Amino acid sequence: MAEIKTIGILTSGGDAPGMNAAIRSVTRAAIFNDLKVKGIYRGYRGLIDDEIVEFKTQNVSNIIQQGGTILKTARCAEFMTVEGRQLAYDILRRHQIDALVVIGGDGSLTGARVFANEFNFPIIGLPGTIDNDLYGTDSTIGYDTALNTIMDCVDKIRDTATSHERLFFIEVMGRNAGFLALNGAIASGAEAAIIPEISTEVDQLAELIQNGFRKSKNSSIVLVAESPITGGAMGMAERVKKEFPRYDVRVTILGHLQRGGSPTAHDRILASRMGAAAIDALMEDQRNVMIGIKNDDIVYVPFSKAIKNDKPINRELLNTLRRLSI
Ligand code: ADP
Repeated sequence: MAEIKTIGILTSGGDAPGMNAAIRSVTRAAIFNDLKVKGIYRGYRGLIDDEIVEFKTQNVSNIIQQGGTILKTARCAEFMTVEGRQLAYDILRRHQIDALVVIGGDGSLTGARVFANEFNFPIIGLPGTIDNDLYGTDSTIGYDTALNTIMDCVDKIRDTATSHERLFFIEVMGRNAGFLALNGAIASGAEAAIIPEISTEVDQLAELIQNGFRKSKNSSIVLVAESPITGGAMGMAERVKKEFPRYDVRVTILGHLQRGGSPTAHDRILASRMGAAAIDALMEDQRNVMIGIKNDDIVYVPFSKAIKNDKPINRELLNTLRRLSI
């Protein structure tokens, strides 16, 4: 295996709080190990466009507390083509970059896997997504911050829900995963969560109504995961208006509020540990793995596993929510 002297780092896909903490950690751990670091702006788009700058330790000063990503992020259709990836490879060679650290979600790591296999190029992935939908890690960078944002928002909406005795459907992000909705519901004391993982097994709305929710309460809050499978909060509200017209229904879609903000301590620590672990992995000749965290220990998860497997939702959480919302 050729010696690694210079690494490139990029953020790709949806931004997530804690990405900056990860950039800082990767950069500093690399320099600590006498590696050169090159920051690649705008994800795979910027790689193809040669937006590359050498990073020193001061390039990542004062960013651990900032949301978003100082490297910017982008989506890049060209990287999905063989020609696009060949261009990317040529640019990497020109900059003498020997390995990449890619921070992003499911799509970005899928791109990393394709590229790594095609050019036999060493890549380490960091799970940067608020959705928490990558297999092999208990948590992804940004998830905890988004969860806390959701909790704060629901606390505020509850004031109105209670005062007006309304039923609120609050839509949260998650792509096709219900982690934000389910844990957000538990954290904010919501009555229920409608999540894609169990939508095909039970009619969650019918179950909710059957269980007599609102019997002893003057307001209710239901978190709905955005997904074509759940139909989203709008879809739920339409159904209730039709089937149970006596309810005073409102919808709030939290949207991009959930992505921003200063990362929580949990996400800063997670990103710092994972970033340093990415450099350890490269030094240990690991290739094409995502850094994960399992029972508070760093683990290496092959890209193929992290991307392909659906991360299961913990049923115990679902039961807890059901028991506590009576
Ligand atoms: P996220 O990483 O947040 O899931 P996307 O799904 O938008 O975000 O993916 C980010 C980028 O990763 C895409 O714009 C594309 O450049 C790259 N990518 C995604 N899937 C593939 C693929 N199958 N092959 C090559 N590149 C891909």
